[in-house]
This record gives sequence, C-alpha cells and structure tokens, in this order.
Amino acid sequence: MVDHLERMRAIVAQAVAEARRAANGSGARLTAIDLVAYGETDPAVVAHLFAEASRGTEAEGAVVAVTQAGSRYICWNCCGLRFESDDGICPNCGEDALEIPEEIGFGLGRVTVSG
Ligand SMILES: [Zn+2]
Repeated sequence: MVDHLERMRAIVAQAVAEARRAANGSGARLTAIDLVAYGETDPAVVAHLFAEASRGTEAEGAVVAVTQAGSRYICWNCCGLRFESDDGICPNCGEDALEIPEEIGFGLGRVTVSG
C-alpha cells in the first residue's frame, strides 16, 4: 500500500499544479477532483488513498469522484499506443495488446476549481 500512497501523492501534486494553472491567479481553489480506477481496482480504495495523500495539501477537502474504467493496455504491435479497453484489442491496428500491470491501478481525471 505504501507504493500506492506514493503514487497518489504524485497525483495530488499534479492535481494541485493543474488547479493553480486553471485558477490563473484568481484565487480560486481546488474544489473537486475526478480520479479513475482501472480494471479491478476498488474505487473505495482510491478515494481512501486520496484522503490520506491530500491531507495538509491544497487538495485536502476537495470533493472526490472515482470513475471505474476498463483495464489499460499498451500495444507493442504498432506504435506503443496506450488505451483503455475491456477486451484489449488495439483500436489502431486491431491486434491483441498487453495489459498494463495492476499496480498502476488509478490515475487523475479532471480537476475543478472555483472561487
Ligand atoms: Zn496497435
């Protein structure tokens, strides 16, 4: 779980940076964040990790929404394309792609700022 927490901290840092850019000096704050849980990853675990990792940051207290997505795949057949899918068929070349390992189980979706 330590590695997951480290990864979530990186996502929180990214979200804070994006929120600052979106606020553009207006004083608006990060109020909501969308996270994506891939494959078998439990959205409740992702939300819990966010709560833990955001403590003491500008992202603390933001409303969290976790979306469940299909697994992520990478196609080595054509161009190293990364994509989300339920069946792992590359949308570019139609070949079976390789599933990205489970430890990369979540990612940042969208951040919302408001002042
Ligand atoms: Zn391909």
